[in-house]
Amino acid sequence: MTLHFSCTQCGRCCHDLRLSLSAEEAAVWTGNGHTVQILSEALPVLPSASGGAGEDDFNLGRSFAARSGGMPIRIAATLVAYHVGACPHLLPDMRCGNYAARPRICRIYPLDRLPGIRFDARAKVCPPEAWLESHPLLMSGERIAEDEAALVLAAHRETARREVPLMEALCRKLGISAAAFANEGLAVHTPEPATLHSALRELAAGFAPPEGLANWTILTNRAPTLAMLTEAGCDAGIVTRGAGYLGSFADEPV
Ligand code: SF4
Ligand code: SF4
Repeated sequence: MTLHFSCTQCGRCCHDLRLSLSAEEAAVWTGNGHTVQILSEALPVLPSASGGAGEDDFNLGRSFAARSGGMPIRIAATLVAYHVGACPHLLPDMRCGNYAARPRICRIYPLDRLPGIRFDARAKVCPPEAWLESHPLLMSGERIAEDEAALVLAAHRETARREVPLMEALCRKLGISAAAFANEGLAVHTPEPATLHSALRELAAGFAPPEGLANWTILTNRAPTLAMLTEAGCDAGIVTRGAGYLGSFADEPV
């Protein structure tokens, strides 16, 4: 598969999106009074044939160990800039008013932030004219053809892995201890920008690794999943889709 791409500067990707940020980027974003959310999901720890953790390297690398009731789990927590409508930096002519300092994720769209996802141009908000075969090559198979985009994406992923201990400390500091069951949705936590800004600044100055495993509640909007989690000994709770829970499936209440 080869994919050609050229940005039309339509500005669609600067509307109504959640942009994953590094902790440093989130500190800057919240320092400007803008909203940053924390999305959390709970990954099950599956036994493997070798007897070790069964998660793939990526899920291990982006998550920290925790427990839910008697079950060992892993938590992936991600900082995202959140805005309804236009990004606060978007200019009326659809240029970025923060171009030089825009977050890494803005430099790599429409590439996928997470590895292992089959690239689907139809899932992107770019218009059809951005994908013409006459445009420069963006991807050849799994390989990203544009060197700079590949470097920025690699740096974004590496930063996310490096910041896992900080994200664990941040969740503890803010009292965040609920996560969506992985692959069903994402739990959304929305601290006040000033609160998050000062927590991020404090942690950037240094922190001791948290002791022990924190207990997390696993959230789902599906009664069968709730029953399965409860049976497995987890602390589980039922929610409905909305501002606090981005569900991939329709609500199935108890
Ligand atoms: S920072 Fe700039 S590129 Fe990123 S979403 Fe906002 S306007 Fe768009
Ligand atoms: S949606 Fe696609 S084509 Fe439009 S500005 Fe964003 S990256 Fe460019």
